[in-house]
Amino acid sequence: MKNFRNIVQSSFRFCPLCGARLKINKIHGQSELFCPKCNFVFWLNSKPTASGLLVKNKKVLLVKRGIQPHKGWWDVPGGFLDFHEKPEIGLVRELKEELNIKVSNPKFLGIYLGKYFSNPPQSTFNLYYVVTKWTGELRPADDVVKYKWCSINQLPKDIAFENNRLALKDLKKLLR
Ligand SMILES: [Zn+2]
Repeated sequence: MKNFRNIVQSSFRFCPLCGARLKINKIHGQSELFCPKCNFVFWLNSKPTASGLLVKNKKVLLVKRGIQPHKGWWDVPGGFLDFHEKPEIGLVRELKEELNIKVSNPKFLGIYLGKYFSNPPQSTFNLYYVVTKWTGELRPADDVVKYKWCSINQLPKDIAFENNRLALKDLKKLLR
């Protein structure tokens, strides 16, 4: 059976440097994509994201996804970091794009790994922040179609991505 590493690796066929067909090689005991022509190793690193758990009166804000994967499911606002972008800067940018608010003083909660089944699929390295301060009127935009405030004790069942569910579990402990 293919594991997640094999699934992600099978999405890439050609060397991004020289265009030759990639092969799988054992490197430090791990299967890695490798170019037999120019020796390039296509390391599969996780992709970093930043997400904001907006909290008000023991309620957390969830957003409804307007795009695949998991279109129509509840999500935590946030997104992929840009190239060489600091996580806090990416968080502020994403929440401005998705909710039209300017957040300040985010508090780091933790890191949660995830599987994001886009094409190609991604291993995600998700940084979560608790946000209690922001300015501006909440208005969903971009990848978000609507939002709702949910009691931390009564979260909906259709929450996308295991990383969200794990982060919300830790948030619940924090708010108790
Ligand atoms: Zn190559």
